[in-house]
Amino acid sequence: MEKGELIQIRQFLEKLKAKIFTIKNISWKSPRVIGGTVVFLIAVGSGLVYLNSTTSAVYVVVNDHKIGLVASKDQAEEMVDEIFSEKGAPLGIEAKTNDSITYSSVRVKNAEYHELAKETLAEDISYYVDGAAVLVNKQPIFVLAKAEDADRLLNDFKDYYAQPSDKNQVLSSSFEDDVKTQAKQVPLEQAVSYDQALEKLKEGNLQKIEYTVQKDDSWWLIARKNDMKTKEVLASNPGTTEDTILKPGQKIYLDKVTPYITVVCEGVRTDVETIPFDVISQTDVSLASGETKIKQSGSDGQKEVQYAYVQKNDKVVSQTVKDEKVLKAAVSQIVEKGPQRVTVAYSRGSGSIASGISWPLRGSITSYYGYRGSGFHTGIDIAGDQGDPYTAAAPGKVVSAGWNGNYGYSILIDHGNGIMTRYAHSSKLLVSAGQSVSKGQTIGLVGSTGNATGSHLHFEVIINGDTVNPLNSLR
Ligand SMILES: [Zn+2]
Repeated sequence: MEKGELIQIRQFLEKLKAKIFTIKNISWKSPRVIGGTVVFLIAVGSGLVYLNSTTSAVYVVVNDHKIGLVASKDQAEEMVDEIFSEKGAPLGIEAKTNDSITYSSVRVKNAEYHELAKETLAEDISYYVDGAAVLVNKQPIFVLAKAEDADRLLNDFKDYYAQPSDKNQVLSSSFEDDVKTQAKQVPLEQAVSYDQALEKLKEGNLQKIEYTVQKDDSWWLIARKNDMKTKEVLASNPGTTEDTILKPGQKIYLDKVTPYITVVCEGVRTDVETIPFDVISQTDVSLASGETKIKQSGSDGQKEVQYAYVQKNDKVVSQTVKDEKVLKAAVSQIVEKGPQRVTVAYSRGSGSIASGISWPLRGSITSYYGYRGSGFHTGIDIAGDQGDPYTAAAPGKVVSAGWNGNYGYSILIDHGNGIMTRYAHSSKLLVSAGQSVSKGQTIGLVGSTGNATGSHLHFEVIINGDTVNPLNSLR
């Protein structure tokens, strides 16, 4: 029954009521009155029966489909508003729809009235959001549901890596990539919240890459070559352990994470560093040959170093010392040794030490050992292109491999007999401290990290703690 019919019934009842008042002037015995009263009573009776056995309600109509009944239009509208709020809540917005939602009034039999559940109605509506797509190098990476959060998101992602503090003055932070945002309407389920978006940017893009095992590869070496951890490489290949044998030509997977956006930060950072104590050996003839005695215990010092650095996401790509202040001087350890027969471990004539030191990299020498314009040069610079592999000059054990101030990413190898070699300014290190290396083994890639102009390998030969001219030892 439509609203119009209800009004008609009401008007009819009003008319009958009006008749009752006019009855007073007419004898009740008049047949007209009796007839009228009978009609009136029947009408009122059936009207009351109708009103008591039915109820008014509204249909909620979505795109011309009657979804269900709700008591009133107000209640229906309230229900719809709640649905849009609840749907959008996880994204911090109010959801929207392109569906037509209308209400139509009805009277239904009491027994037939079942109120529409909010969940049922919610399922019959499709939702969208007016979001902002984040484009990196023109590729969309996600759509942020709340468009006005886009700038805040990108700034917060910059700060995630910049981390300014009283010890870290950030001079600039910018995106290396072309990052843009663009208004975009997408279905609700395709949009992400601010928190999800920031998390996604921090986590980066996970890609499964196929890798062909090379000769001499190990799980560890594959990890180093691909900027991954051994356990990450193993996790990419379920069922493998470090003991799983790799065969050249075999295909394995690398679940590699690449950042969506690279944040470049430049700044000045102040670090407190340890100054390792020196060990000074003195000969004491009163001691037996090979006997040692500590005359003075050494202790480490401390210094405050100010670095100017460039950082890409969480990796420092270059840093140079701006200032250095000793907070506490190191105290040398003085060791007295009994007289020893000194064996000459190297000689210029033969150009070899022990089993011989070979060139770690083939290339022209761009700077020689000794005094040069800027001071004493403690090694030789061998020209090389960024990424060229260089090798261990002799068999030995890696003392350290990592960032080392002006040396940038560098490696120090102990060859025994007091002989060490250093390899500096690398773009990548392929060995780690404690590892044994063989002569000719690739240990790192040429770069220009630390205090370096242009890519080259800075190579040092250190004998009994002092650098010597590598050209006297190389063959
Ligand atoms: Zn150098």
